[in-house]
Amino acid sequence: MNKIYLDNAATTPLSEEVIDAMVNVLKNNYGNPSSTHSLGQEAKILIENVRRQVAEYLKVTPAEIIFTSCGTESNNMIIKSCVDHCGVERIITSPMEHKCVSETVMDLKKRKGIEVVYLRPDSRGDISIEELAEVLKNSEKKTLVTLMHANNEIGNLLDIKKVAELCKENNALFHSDTVQSMAHMDLDFSDIPVDFASCSAHKFHGPKGSGFAFIRKATGLKGIITGGPQERSLRAGTENVCGIVGLGKALELYLNNMDSYANYIKEIKQYAITQLSEKIKGVKFNGRSSEMDKSLYTVLSVLLPFKDPMIGLKLDMQGIAISQGSACSSGASKPSMVMMMILDEEEMMETTPLRVSFSHLTTKAEIDALVSGVAEIAHGFEIEKTNVEHR
Ligand code: PLP
Repeated sequence: MNKIYLDNAATTPLSEEVIDAMVNVLKNNYGNPSSTHSLGQEAKILIENVRRQVAEYLKVTPAEIIFTSCGTESNNMIIKSCVDHCGVERIITSPMEHKCVSETVMDLKKRKGIEVVYLRPDSRGDISIEELAEVLKNSEKKTLVTLMHANNEIGNLLDIKKVAELCKENNALFHSDTVQSMAHMDLDFSDIPVDFASCSAHKFHGPKGSGFAFIRKATGLKGIITGGPQERSLRAGTENVCGIVGLGKALELYLNNMDSYANYIKEIKQYAITQLSEKIKGVKFNGRSSEMDKSLYTVLSVLLPFKDPMIGLKLDMQGIAISQGSACSSGASKPSMVMMMILDEEEMMETTPLRVSFSHLTTKAEIDALVSGVAEIAHGFEIEKTNVEHR
């Protein structure tokens, strides 16, 4: 059975061109980039070319790009080093962050006594900029604000330019987890004064195990992995040359096609909204995810009007790969923090969230299959409800 893949916020399939570029490196560029002979220097050149390419996309300098193993490592490195090396004593964040941010912040609170202030999102999942401004003003402590750009479960977009400017005015550092938006949107960091950001190649058809951190110069950030002088001593360890080349190829492909991919995926997302609204009575959409201008176009968070914790499994048996929330929490028995923040108690008890996430490879026929699969499950619940009412 051909799988229908609707879990692109968890990860994306590798592009053929990315695989070819990586295999070529694995076969031919095995030199260690730190070696001074020509094989080593050829590998080094491959890495520096990708660094320049990333820097051009973000309109920053190549020295501000540090290759890492993933989004999790980039976020860990930035947040931990802000405390260890930049004198941060207070972190302002939100309960909607990815676990690699929220657990890192929690760890710093427990181990280092860092003060943590949580901005409470409203029922649409939005953070109040006014509340942030207020919180920023009422402390003398050196502060890091860490707020994600695009939420991985509901797709809500944060105005990172506004937040970055506010942080600057208040002398606070600003980190944004940009793992879901990187490559999918124009990000001009010469205009957005963010201090730190993160990227993971597998979110845009690149390889897993390859990412980078954007670290604005003069922030004083240092690495947390010590060892050799790789990546300007900010991330010791022999570089993942083929992973970095794969990231570069995936970024090139995505940027060359960004407008056509975005337009196509928006059309698919609108189609999914229309079909689900027509065929599933009582369906709702979480956060801002059904508002095209306020959410990431790859994510649609659906709220189904019945409780079915097994829905992911049922759809999988129909050949549809999809998550209920984020991939990291969808296997867990605990409800997602994001859903706990935006749903009321009754909704938590009586509904089922489903995250549909698209790519340029998603087709309308796949959306039709999903909608009819969900409609069949919903129909089963309606019959059961009618039987209970008539008993
Ligand atoms: N941040 C966000 C918003 C994510 O969605 C993810 C992955 O799902 C990560 C961070 C972690 O990235 P990685 O899988 O590269 O560690």
